[in-house]
Amino acid sequence: MLVKTTEFITSATRPSHYPPGEMPEVAFAGRSNVGKSSLINVLLNRKNLVRTSSTPGRTQLINFFGVNGAFMLVDLPGYGFAKVPLAVKKQWGPMMETYLSSRENLRVVVLILDIRRVPTAEDRQMLEWLRAYSVPPLLVVTKCDKVSKNERARQAALIARTLEVEKEELHFFSALSKEGKDAIWVAIERLLSA
Ligand code: GDP
Repeated sequence: MLVKTTEFITSATRPSHYPPGEMPEVAFAGRSNVGKSSLINVLLNRKNLVRTSSTPGRTQLINFFGVNGAFMLVDLPGYGFAKVPLAVKKQWGPMMETYLSSRENLRVVVLILDIRRVPTAEDRQMLEWLRAYSVPPLLVVTKCDKVSKNERARQAALIARTLEVEKEELHFFSALSKEGKDAIWVAIERLLSA
């Protein structure tokens, strides 16, 4: 994918504030701190289009970006941050489920996981919603530079087992080495044009 232009379009919490769904859309989801912003910035060749390490406690927003004037990239609010106030936490589920069930131009959700961690209940919930609303998931396991080859294989097996998916469905990535960048773009492009 040759990224020529990226532009911030808007932030929204509910469908009446979403931008028009005229272009195919790819959304990114994952636990707070999993490396979502780093992945998006590497994919878009931008240093800080998406702010890294969002401050807990702030209102959780769905952020829409236009890419090449051809498709929409959506940064979904990170989940699972222990310090987020309960009131904010409670909004996350309905906000996600509403977006996933109502966004008709949504073609793929990139679900990001940390190679060193066991997927959480919220990761599994995301995957369940994607199945329920027939949105294809793209599973990206990030921070791969932090583990050895052996550990990677062991953790991949554990992640696949916990999510009840095949190991072959996992895309390995590192924001440091940029390993996996091209393969992830190929997979996203295939789903955007499906
Ligand atoms: P977000 O909260 O999911 O958007 O996560 P960030 O992208 O802000 O990343 C959280 C922290 O993990 C930051 O300190 C990043 O520098 C670090 N990080 C993200 N991706 C990688 C990676 O692939 N490798 C390494 N070593 N660190 C990473």
